[in-house]
Amino acid sequence: MTKVILKKKISPRIANGHPWVFANEVNQVDGSASGGEIADIFTHDNKFVGKGYINPKSQIIARILTRNPKEIINEEFFFKRIAEAWEYRKKIGYTENCRLIFGEADFIPALIIDKFNEYFVVQTLALGVDIWKPAIVNALQKIFQPKGIYERNDVPVRELEGLGQQKGFLSEPFDTNIIIRENGLQFHVDVANGQKTGYFLDQRDNRRAIQHIVKGADVLGAFCYTGTFEIHAAKYGARSVLGLDISENAVAQATKNAALNNLDHICRFEATNAFDALKQWSKEGRAYDVVMLDPPAFTKSRENIQKAITGYKEINLRGMKLLKKGGFLVTSSCTNLVQPDLFLEIIDMAAKDARRKLRQVTFQAQASDHPIIRGIENTNYLKFLIAEVL
Ligand code: SAH
Repeated sequence: MTKVILKKKISPRIANGHPWVFANEVNQVDGSASGGEIADIFTHDNKFVGKGYINPKSQIIARILTRNPKEIINEEFFFKRIAEAWEYRKKIGYTENCRLIFGEADFIPALIIDKFNEYFVVQTLALGVDIWKPAIVNALQKIFQPKGIYERNDVPVRELEGLGQQKGFLSEPFDTNIIIRENGLQFHVDVANGQKTGYFLDQRDNRRAIQHIVKGADVLGAFCYTGTFEIHAAKYGARSVLGLDISENAVAQATKNAALNNLDHICRFEATNAFDALKQWSKEGRAYDVVMLDPPAFTKSRENIQKAITGYKEINLRGMKLLKKGGFLVTSSCTNLVQPDLFLEIIDMAAKDARRKLRQVTFQAQASDHPIIRGIENTNYLKFLIAEVL
């Protein structure tokens, strides 16, 4: 078996339980070290650290699966981990639709599985886990007897692992346009062509958090995707709702979703660049009671973090300028590169520039089916703030 020997100065990240081992943290690799193989990882003085999949082509050379030297990594291992993750979801009350496996937070690094009722969408984002796809599919079949399983591996991060991009059925083919229920509403989910796995399950509880502030309000939602926040606003009693997204496809889905819930007389959606629209409309003196922002990550790499900071500040500043005095800003950030404290600092900077005062209503993270593991910083990725803007 291949042995990975860490440098003498072991990073606190690995010592504290984070599963990633970067290539520059390794002193020596003994053995064949072929990509995807399970390797044992040791400290420089031969103390066992853990076992995990290795990929010499990746900057993350190893991803630790277990710290138990006796545990064997085989098909049964993946079945057990998936069954445990399902038990956990049942305990915390996320079952109908949920993120069943959230990679590192469910101790299967680089694996994502979203459950949409009786359908499953899988992403294997590292070579090590990609190899176990058949075992993962078998486990899903055994535990759930699903109506369908779909692979959404059409994501660029796979290329860092030397993997190609692909998507398709991992079960018998099925109609990939499905309907899910959430908070008493219904949404079309296109698991084959939607963004990521088709739907953003992580905002489920946050969507419910707007319940009281939108009553009787004129609401603007930017970066609306399939209109989930906007349709929630309409259901919770908004007077009018306008949703914006740059993608024509997203806007078409959002419009369909509003009709599905008989809320199309309240919700309207427009395909446009939100940065330009918000700037233009504040110049024209438009004003809203609630502005909701849920922009994309803006950057995927730490080197470009300034780009994300600038983007978040800019859009939040523009959002605040469109709010009536005493209106509410509902704002999110989904990149783990901007941690919660930094996000709040950015919002404070935007408020200062807009000469507005903020009264925080709530500040929360993603829904609990995307667990946060203390010490694994990147599992704490979603920030969601509601603030009154004075
Ligand atoms: N609020 C949504 C998720 C939003 S994801 C939900 O809860 O389901 C971010 C969205 O921003 C994507 O749909 C993307 O198409 C859109 N987007 C990206 N850049 C944009 C821009 N400049 N203007 C408007 N929308 C944009």
